[in-house]
Amino acid sequence: MKGKERILYSEEAIKERVGEMGKAIDAYYNGKEVLVIGLLRGSFVFCSDLVRAMESKMEIDFMTTSSYEDEFSSSGDVKLFSDLRADVKGRDVLIVDDIIDTGHTLETVVKSIRALEPASVKTAVMLDKPSRREVDFSADFTGFTIDDVFIVGYGLNYGPYYRNKPYIYTYED
Ligand code: 5GP
Ligand code: MG
Repeated sequence: MKGKERILYSEEAIKERVGEMGKAIDAYYNGKEVLVIGLLRGSFVFCSDLVRAMESKMEIDFMTTSSYEDEFSSSGDVKLFSDLRADVKGRDVLIVDDIIDTGHTLETVVKSIRALEPASVKTAVMLDKPSRREVDFSADFTGFTIDDVFIVGYGLNYGPYYRNKPYIYTYED
C-alpha cells in the first residue's frame, strides 16, 4: 500500500480500551471459569493483551481460520483448521478475533464450536466494521467500531507483514 500511515488507535488508546473490555468480560462471567479460544493468526496480539487484562480463571486455546481469497476481499468460504486441545463440552467459551468484517468467520467458528456442546459461546473482537456485514451476526464484546477502511497493525496484516506494529493504522495518499 502506498501513502502515509494514519494512526487510528494509538498504543495507549488500545491499552485503555482492552483494559475496559477485560473488566467487562470478567464482570459478565462473574467468577466462572472461561475457555478462551483465540483465532490465529490475526488475534494473537489482541488475545494476549485481553487475557492479561482479565482475572477470570481460564484455559486458553487456539484455532486457525482463513477466509481471504486475496489480500483485501474476504469470502464466505471460511476455512477452519482446528487443533483444539481443550474439551469444549459443557464449558463457557469466549471466542476472540481481531476484527469482524463480513461476519462469515465468526459465524462459521461459532457454529462449529456449538456442535461441540459448550455451556455457552460468546465472542470478543477488537474491531468491528458493521457496514461490511453479510450475515446477521454481531460480537458480544467490541473494542472499536470503524468505517469501511482496510486497517493494519495490532495483529492485522498486509500481505505477510506489519502484524507486529503496536498501533492500528491505515494508509492515506
Ligand atoms: P470476516 O469473515 O468477518 O469478513 O473477516 C474476518 C477476517 O478478515 C479477520 O479476522 C481478518 O483476518 C480479515 N480482515 C477483515 N478486515 C480487515 C482489515 O481491515 N485489515 C486486515 N488486515 N484484515 C482484515
Ligand atoms: Mg483473521
